[in-house]
Amino acid sequence: SIRSFASETTAADPEQEEKVIGETKKKTFQAETRKLLDIVTHSLYSEKEVFVRELVSNASDALEKLRHTQLTDGSLDSGKPLEIHISVDENKNTFTIQDFGIGMTEEEAISNLGTIARSGSKAFLENLEGDSSAASTKDKIIGQFGVGFYSAFMVGAEIKVYTRSVTPGSKGYCWTSDGSGSYEIAEAENVAVGTKIVIKLRDECKEYSKESVIEGIIKKYSNFVDYPVHLNNRKI
Ligand code: ADP
Ligand code: MG
Repeated sequence: SIRSFASETTAADPEQEEKVIGETKKKTFQAETRKLLDIVTHSLYSEKEVFVRELVSNASDALEKLRHTQLTDGSLDSGKPLEIHISVDENKNTFTIQDFGIGMTEEEAISNLGTIARSGSKAFLENLEGDSSAASTKDKIIGQFGVGFYSAFMVGAEIKVYTRSVTPGSKGYCWTSDGSGSYEIAEAENVAVGTKIVIKLRDECKEYSKESVIEGIIKKYSNFVDYPVHLNNRKI
């Protein structure tokens, strides 16, 4: 039944933290991705706040995919509201974004987060080939094309992605990377259906752990988001 499916696959005790339980596999990013990440992590691009827009837009896409899937298969109920929850912690210097959307299987996490499928990122690299490699040129290109999920590495020293596909029977996974060429993936327990991204901010990007700063950034883009956004448990 729907009920047993929901309790079986979405019950992630909010009081309990996600925990890696499986064997950790270490993988290297595809060469193109490594190149892009090297540029992103060393970027002096001044509008780093775009990472918020990119992650909110991915969360929104994931909710939209779930909503769409539910139209054809009503049993795919995550049991959670179609919402985006952001939390920041100044003491821990973290930025966290969680959606109760479609989530990713292990294979999807590996292919979607480890390779560049995104047209914007491809265009970014193509433009780079033909251009001088001056830092200002790279920054212009980051701004013009956007680098999607990878933009989180402009501000993050380490990024953890906890994800679990809504597909019945899916396990939870933890994907981790510092953006320097490789990532790790392992099975994890207590992962809710959907995706939760935890960014351990770099010291020089501490401002993004401030509630007021993030609230200002979200309000700039919120017109384009179709789902409610909560910040530190408050709807904004
Ligand atoms: P784009 O959004 O243009 O496809 P991104 O780099 O922003 O490119 O994201 C890459 C891919 O990673 C997405 O297409 C999606 O498959 C996956 N992804 C990223 N964030 C999420 C999320 N919150 N939930 C599910 N899948 C995600
Ligand atoms: Mg995106």
